[in-house]
Amino acid sequence: MIKTYENIKIFQGDQIGGCVTVISSTVNGKTHRIMIDYGSSLEGSGTVKDFDYPWDKEPIDAVFFTHYHGDHVGRIGEIPKSVKTLYMGETARKVMINIQRALTRTKDGDAARAELELLNDDGRIRTFKKARCIYKHITDIPGFKIEPYSVDHSAYDAYMFLIEVEDDSVPGGKTIILHTGDFRGHGRRGKAMLPVINYYIRRYGNKEGTGKPKRDVDVLITEGTMISRSDEPVLTEFELQLEATKYLHEHKYAFLICSSTNLDSLASFYQAAQDASVPYGRYLYTYNNYFKTQLDTFTKTAGKYTDLYKFENVYELELERELKRPEWTKKKTQKELMEYTGFLAVIKPAEWCEKFVDPFIEDYKNGHINEMPVIIYSMWDGYIDKTKGARKDEWIKFIERQEAKGVEIKHLHTSGHASVQMLTDVIKAVNPTRAVIPMHTEDAEGFKYLDMDEGLKDKVFIERSC
Ligand SMILES: [Zn+2]
Repeated sequence: MIKTYENIKIFQGDQIGGCVTVISSTVNGKTHRIMIDYGSSLEGSGTVKDFDYPWDKEPIDAVFFTHYHGDHVGRIGEIPKSVKTLYMGETARKVMINIQRALTRTKDGDAARAELELLNDDGRIRTFKKARCIYKHITDIPGFKIEPYSVDHSAYDAYMFLIEVEDDSVPGGKTIILHTGDFRGHGRRGKAMLPVINYYIRRYGNKEGTGKPKRDVDVLITEGTMISRSDEPVLTEFELQLEATKYLHEHKYAFLICSSTNLDSLASFYQAAQDASVPYGRYLYTYNNYFKTQLDTFTKTAGKYTDLYKFENVYELELERELKRPEWTKKKTQKELMEYTGFLAVIKPAEWCEKFVDPFIEDYKNGHINEMPVIIYSMWDGYIDKTKGARKDEWIKFIERQEAKGVEIKHLHTSGHASVQMLTDVIKAVNPTRAVIPMHTEDAEGFKYLDMDEGLKDKVFIERSC
């Protein structure tokens, strides 16, 4: 279960999720270490229990989080106080605070309260700071220089790290490592990935006229989620938005199942709901206040840079709530307004959310409205595939019950991970001098079959986990 390459250790790298990387620097006999991500195993990955990191034996100076998904940050609460600093994105921190605040009201409230306290602790949490168009380099850990670069992923505010490590035991005394975290090329910000590699990571063109890179990357540690999922279609977020627009144009009453933190897809559906309903865009409704809070957070942070990430007309679902407007002669319930204008409403695939769907089915049956509601399922299909280890039985039953009621389920989703083509392009652009180390993949061997030259294939490091 631990893969070791020179001064790099990867824990649980042979599953999609829960991968932990530890990099050490030893200069004059003194060792310092950083950790990248400390997340939970993917459900159904076959890992019965998450490993326990030997915090006392191999102490860590700082942990760097690539993004806020549970398989990368899920075990943050277990990190001992001896680890002085935890680094993460500024918006990622806010999104995680929203999640834990909501969880304090559940049965795991105590754990959530402890995590919330940690996330609010300015003494331990540090966020990446911008210095013009790049992020400030982190140089206060002996033996390391860390450069965070923003990447496109289904989690907003995700990072890859370029890490320069001093180490007496490696050739030349220094290793330059690029750790991609989770990334993709087909989201709204995906086009930036290759230019960032060419112009910042490799610093192309710094020496005028030579066209030569000034900096070589020695080791590339990259995710490979899609190697074993290459049969899944990869829509761009824009293609997803266009398809959603067409679909919402035909369906006035639409429910949506989508992650509260998948900003790109939420923006695609929100924009689609505006474009499908000219001249008046459709309101977005949410099943609870937590979901609305996440959207408000994205509007205030990501929305500063582009209108695409602004969610302006968002309301919590309370179907019987009475509303009044000056132009109305009498009050309307929220449900009456929704039936009049149409809607896009986010729900969870949980039994208690059927109370939002059923009244519209009833009203269709008794002739109050002339369309059945529909449900758009925009999550990974593996969760509702009975043959997959990661399946969620409650979700499968929910979908089956809605289909039995005659509700159409539209599958419309795009992956948060790099397509096989994008992965190949990134490996070629980085062109590491020593190794390509696959992680976050069930098929490391598959890297050897990517469309790249033999020299690069030979650098793929597939030591069997032990
Ligand atoms: Zn992720």
